Amino acid sequence: RQRILSGMQPSAGSLHLGNYLGALVHWVRLQETYDAVFFIPDLHAITVPQDPAELAQRTRTTAAQYIAGGVDPERATLFVQSHVPEHAQLAWVLNCLTGFGEASRMTQFKDKSSKQGSDSASVGLFTYPILQAADILLYQPDGVPVGEDQRQHVELSRDLAQRFNSRFGETFVVPKPFIQKDSAKIYDLQNPTAKMSKSASSAAGLVNLLDDPKVSAKRIRSAVTDDGSEIRFDRAAKPGISNLLAIFSSLTGRTVEDLEAAYEGRMYGHLKVDLAAAVADTLGPVRVRAEELLSDPAELDRLLALGAAKARDLAAPTLAAVYERVGFLPVA
Ligand code: ATP
Ligand code: MG
Repeated sequence: RQRILSGMQPSAGSLHLGNYLGALVHWVRLQETYDAVFFIPDLHAITVPQDPAELAQRTRTTAAQYIAGGVDPERATLFVQSHVPEHAQLAWVLNCLTGFGEASRMTQFKDKSSKQGSDSASVGLFTYPILQAADILLYQPDGVPVGEDQRQHVELSRDLAQRFNSRFGETFVVPKPFIQKDSAKIYDLQNPTAKMSKSASSAAGLVNLLDDPKVSAKRIRSAVTDDGSEIRFDRAAKPGISNLLAIFSSLTGRTVEDLEAAYEGRMYGHLKVDLAAAVADTLGPVRVRAEELLSDPAELDRLLALGAAKARDLAAPTLAAVYERVGFLPVA
């Protein structure tokens, strides 16, 4: 079987609708036919300042949401990145193969560091995509399901795999990005030209998996809409309404054309009420299941320990080959 690998940062108390529709639902489908590796990148979460107690809690909460959303810890390999030291070890080697200029071109660093002020941005944030390349290449996956926002990072991991292979001999599978073409990018409800993001400066534009459905309904009712009154998909002229239509379509499987026809002559408020109901129908059961899982942290930790053992069995041979090829003296 071919292998895929993906992860979502434990950078907030809850995943949001973009993470769910843009990633989790695809993972659940892919684990049926692929050997799937899903992890929680906690090493990445400390590239920006973190609260230690919160990080540990968020790591568990993220794991619970993966499982509640349908990731099967028996079938897939589900683990926490820091439980597998090979990630940091391979990242160092890849750091030494990456050009400074090459790393400087990564747009996520530019976006995230400009939010923090580039003097206070950490070197870890700068090398984030190289750690991500290590995450990927350790497991020799064929495909990396990610959103469009991650395409550039997967390209970097391909470049580094090819560079290593040509300099030191065939070692890595060169992975392909699996960009879900049919999956909408979800935008912030208050700022519908920016993507919905865990690290958004305000929660008002987010629909979170773990929020009370009443909170989500309120945020959807308060979503920024556009001038005029027509319910029509037009990203340039009507980014707010287009975002709501795209979310509605992804949640229900109805096409945007079908929704436009159904809401012809009706008001923005009607669309918002129905969308809030669709969100509650889909996310309600996920939230309930996640809360069940979180009520037994020992069991969740046990599942993660099993996942870490499976992951190390996959990662260790890759790192051993890398160490040998770069010329590190083996332990006698
Ligand atoms: P952060 O703000 O901490 O970067 P994030 O919300 O961007 O968080 P990530 O952990 O970076 O989430 O991404 C996890 C997965 O979710 C990736 O596959 C990414 O492509 C997808 N994703 C993130 N935001 C969206 C979105 N708004 N729409 C669709 N997919 C998204
Ligand atoms: Mg992100």
